[in-house]
Amino acid sequence: MQTPDRSSLLRELKNQLLYLKDAGYSEIPCETELFSKAASFESPQPTPAKIMTKSKKANQLNQVREELGDCTRCKLAQGRKNIVFGSGNPQADLVFVGEGPGADEDEQGFPFVGRAGKKLTEIIEKGMNLDREKDTYICNIVKCRPPGNRDPEKEEIEACNPFLVQQLKAIQPKVVVALGKPAASTLLGRSVPITKERGTWHDYEGFKLMLTLHPAYLLRAYTIENRKAVHDDMKKVLKALGR
Ligand code: SF4
Repeated sequence: MQTPDRSSLLRELKNQLLYLKDAGYSEIPCETELFSKAASFESPQPTPAKIMTKSKKANQLNQVREELGDCTRCKLAQGRKNIVFGSGNPQADLVFVGEGPGADEDEQGFPFVGRAGKKLTEIIEKGMNLDREKDTYICNIVKCRPPGNRDPEKEEIEACNPFLVQQLKAIQPKVVVALGKPAASTLLGRSVPITKERGTWHDYEGFKLMLTLHPAYLLRAYTIENRKAVHDDMKKVLKALGR
């Protein structure tokens, strides 16, 4: 088995801390056993790390996560390694919604952490000049990986979608962005020709909804035209956010 490198370990640690933050934790309890191990490296004894104070939205989001539990409401539960609930800031004005977790996300339990995730981070941080963790919340329509990355089926979407709605109601974002055709089609309840309808505004459960291309599609079809399309869509989003 390959030993994870330092940057992978740090990313995993960061993800775990973000998960705890999303769940409303304000500090990490320290265990004396860990201190004695740490002492062998002659490092100073750590103090409990303050992450954030519990926010109302974080608490509400945590309640949604608790209600979801170790979910078996649809057959996607059978093949998953982890439920991928979502990550980011529960107070964010901007929420990105994808279709469902892929292999990397299933492995790590966090959304958009593979190649498409890196592209999404690039869109957010380089293209929009926002901070992925501070300024956005990212989740999917289904929280468990569809086998072989197939599209989620109707009954799987129906079982999981109420939790997405509850997530959005907890966060109350100013803008929701649907990433790609399956997410856009699910949210709008019809088949959406994404290359035609991207860049247009819609309403989803009272939230302002923008449709754009999925970052995985962008990686597959990395043309100037597609990059410009996503750039234009995100400019509209920034304008709606007042940025
Ligand atoms: S996809 Fe959603 S409804 Fe289905 S098992 Fe996973 S969490 Fe439950």
